[in-house]
Amino acid sequence: MKIQSYVAGQWCSGDGREDTLVNSVNDEFIGNVVSLTSGFDQFLNYGREVAGPQLRQLTIHERAEKIKLLAKYLLDRKEEFYRISYMTGATRADSWVDIEGGIVTMFSYSGIARRELNNDTFIVEGATEQLSKEGTFVGQHILTSKEGVSVHINAFNFPVWGMLEKITPSLIAGVPVIVKPGTVTCYLTEAVVKAIVESEILPEGSVQLICGSVGDLLDHLTEQDVVTFTGSAATGQKLKAHPNIIAKSIPFTMEADSLNCSILAPDVTPDDVEFDLYIKEVAREMTVKAGQKCTAIRRAIIPVTLTDAVSEALIKRLKGTVIGDPQKDGVRMGALVGKHQRDDVLAAVEQLKQGSEIILNGLENFQSVGVGNSKGAFMAPTLFHCQNPLNNSIPHTIEAFGPVSTLMAYDGIDQAITLAKMGRGSLTGSIFTKSQEHARELILNTASHHGRMLVIDQACAKESTGHGSPLASLVHGGPGRAGGGEELGGVRAIKHYMQRSAIQGSPTSLMAITNQYVRGAKTTSDRVHPFRKYFEELAIGESLTTHRRTVTEADIVNFGCLSGDHFYAHFDEIAAKDSFFEKRVAHGYFVISAAAGMFVDPGQGPVIANYGIDNLRFVEPVGIGDTIQVKLTVKRKIKKSKKPDDKYVTGVVVWDVEVINQNNEAVAIYDILTLVERQNEA
Ligand code: NDP
Repeated sequence: MKIQSYVAGQWCSGDGREDTLVNSVNDEFIGNVVSLTSGFDQFLNYGREVAGPQLRQLTIHERAEKIKLLAKYLLDRKEEFYRISYMTGATRADSWVDIEGGIVTMFSYSGIARRELNNDTFIVEGATEQLSKEGTFVGQHILTSKEGVSVHINAFNFPVWGMLEKITPSLIAGVPVIVKPGTVTCYLTEAVVKAIVESEILPEGSVQLICGSVGDLLDHLTEQDVVTFTGSAATGQKLKAHPNIIAKSIPFTMEADSLNCSILAPDVTPDDVEFDLYIKEVAREMTVKAGQKCTAIRRAIIPVTLTDAVSEALIKRLKGTVIGDPQKDGVRMGALVGKHQRDDVLAAVEQLKQGSEIILNGLENFQSVGVGNSKGAFMAPTLFHCQNPLNNSIPHTIEAFGPVSTLMAYDGIDQAITLAKMGRGSLTGSIFTKSQEHARELILNTASHHGRMLVIDQACAKESTGHGSPLASLVHGGPGRAGGGEELGGVRAIKHYMQRSAIQGSPTSLMAITNQYVRGAKTTSDRVHPFRKYFEELAIGESLTTHRRTVTEADIVNFGCLSGDHFYAHFDEIAAKDSFFEKRVAHGYFVISAAAGMFVDPGQGPVIANYGIDNLRFVEPVGIGDTIQVKLTVKRKIKKSKKPDDKYVTGVVVWDVEVINQNNEAVAIYDILTLVERQNEA
């Protein structure tokens, strides 16, 4: 079988480097990858010219909807991927992380994008900046899709998740992708890309796949392209320093070797639940994916007094790991991805022996199932104990990318902090403690060296997603040795594929550009009340100025009785005189309630519900005898897609509300959100 690439709308292979791929479990032949040798400039152009314009034409919500559809499609076909995944040495549980973990990331991102971003082709970021005294010159940040392609060079260990977690934010950002998977497991990535292409959900050319070498692809990148890399620090640094990448300032996100640590805090004793949780987690991180995880615990930092207790408990647990053919019942740990990878791990094990003692030898005495003599890339968990970790850089530097970890003891919490930081930058760190003081001290003194940290105690252990699981909504990436990049992390990841620009001009110009009302922009008004209009009929900048209302003492008394709020500033003449306001004032909540009474059109109409209030500020006090008036303006419209159970087709209208007094001063400003019926389903 030939493993193929999908480029410029075709499945093909080349006439270059030939790699033979074998089953990690039994050495059986899977197929050959024959690398492409030319055409890389055309593949980039195909993405830029065929897919880019189509993706950019869609709104962010439309792109996110497609991602959701695609995730459902892939989920329906997941069993095909599981079958193939066994050949990588992964157990069903390992493959779940890779396959369903990747698909869940797509669902999560689709939701994040539709919830947190406007339904437009670009992003308006943050508040408008006032740049002049009179408010006629303002600024606003926007993010638009880069007009290039994002090239993702991925590691072998997560052939599905590694691809999906990167292509999802890029596609939602409107940028087509070229995926280059680690060759040794690229047959699984190929199967998923085949499904993506067959689904016909994404615009043609959105996802291209290059199996094998990427040839001179990097020479043809332009200023609008982006590169992400996951793999070894050596390759990452080489690619990051590629002359074309430097010359064109091409963003390069790197995730590389990470010597992640897990700290058992000094308050924990062997009788505590947290002790057992720690042993379980270290063992789990060593054995899931046979330890071939960028987030795995490589350094277990433990109190010196617990060295024997931790060693014994961990060895006992690891010895219970049944290793073997991942398709056989009872097997908990499969094979490494290949014999070459096992050789690399064994070479790293040799290096780790300097200054550390092997206390559990991965080549001896393990229970195995369905493993035939010398076949497959199997290796059992290997545990080191480093006697003098503060003066030995090796366990903090050598990443044995397999089921290998080192115990290192500390004496006093300062030493634990020093050891954690000796990793010189990690993706993940965890702390097991019952003590909030220890949690705070350890986190605040080591977070500078980590991309993500978790604190585990018995209160959260049951629901914890674990040390090694990156999540769509949280940052994945780490400083220093971990590559200095940042993948995932909610909307941040989408923005990595977009250009942020500061736009300056008059409020009216900025309103026209951003499709959002900017205070001070020209507004329009109509004889028809805006609450009588359907979603489609409302224009950005359409405004209603209400009648006026003079606030009386009776208003304050009535509101106080109704709400039960008899705060002195509203009710105590003497205390109010001494107060910040120097007089009795109306409740802020009365002002916004009265405002609603003034701008609402009470009859039945297209406005279905009040969704909430954002950015509320009481700017000036309202006293007895002050006269208020409200200006209500359509600020932003968010079209919602109809779900099968929804009674109405709707959109959210964000209204800018400004309550002013008789001196034309703002007394309250805020946004209200209403759910408004749409006339059309499309
Ligand atoms: P590599 O750095 O060798 O490869 C990573 C990716 O880069 C692969 O897709 C590889 O392709 C590609 N690549 C290699 N050379 C080039 C090049 N010159 N131009 C373009 N692309 C290139 O890492 P491996 O995946 O082989 O893993 C090696 C070690 O890296 C592991 O043992 C582990 O220590 C570390 N690693 C760390 C990870 C982390 O995130 N912490 C994740 C994975 C690995 P190809 O497969 O075709 O060579």
